[in-house]
Amino acid sequence: MAALRLDIVTPDCVVLSKDVEYVGAPGLLGEFGVLPGHIPFISALSIGALHYKCEGNSHYVFISGGFAEVSGNTVSVLAESAEEANHIDFNRAEEARKRAQARLDAKTEDLNFKRASLALSRAITRLSLQGRN
Ligand code: ATP
Repeated sequence: MAALRLDIVTPDCVVLSKDVEYVGAPGLLGEFGVLPGHIPFISALSIGALHYKCEGNSHYVFISGGFAEVSGNTVSVLAESAEEANHIDFNRAEEARKRAQARLDAKTEDLNFKRASLALSRAITRLSLQGRN
C-alpha cells in the first residue's frame, strides 16, 4: 500500500508527483533507500537512476544531479534534469554518447574534461535505462 509521496521537479517542469511504496535514489555517497517512516534526511544526488515501487511494480527515472529531501512521508527531488525511463529519447542519448566520447578521444587542447565526462555519464546512464519502465 502506498504511503510515500514522491515529487520530482526540475527547473523546467514537474516530472513526477505520485504515491509510491519505496524510493531508491543515487546519492552522491551511494544509493539510498526510503521506506515510509524514514528519518528526515537530505542528500545531494549524482547522475544515476532513481528507482521507485508503485503498486508492486518497479519504475525508473533518470536523474542528473540535484538534491533529495525526505521529510515526513514525502521524498522531494530537485534535479538538474530528469526523465521517466519510458520518456527517454534513446537515439538522442546515443548521439550525445558519441559526441562526448569523440571529444574525450580527440583530447584537443580546449577539451573541458569534466564537462565531457559528465555528458558521457549522462548519456550512458540514459542508455542503461532502455527497456525499463
Ligand atoms: P543533449 O546533449 O542530448 O542535450 P544532455 O545530457 O546535455 O544531452 P541535459 O543537459 O541533461 O542534456 O538535459 C537538457 C534537457 O533535455 C532536459 O530537459 C532533459 O530532460 C532533456 N533531455 C536530454 N537528453 C534527453 C533524452 N535522451 N531524452 C529525453 N530528454 C532528454
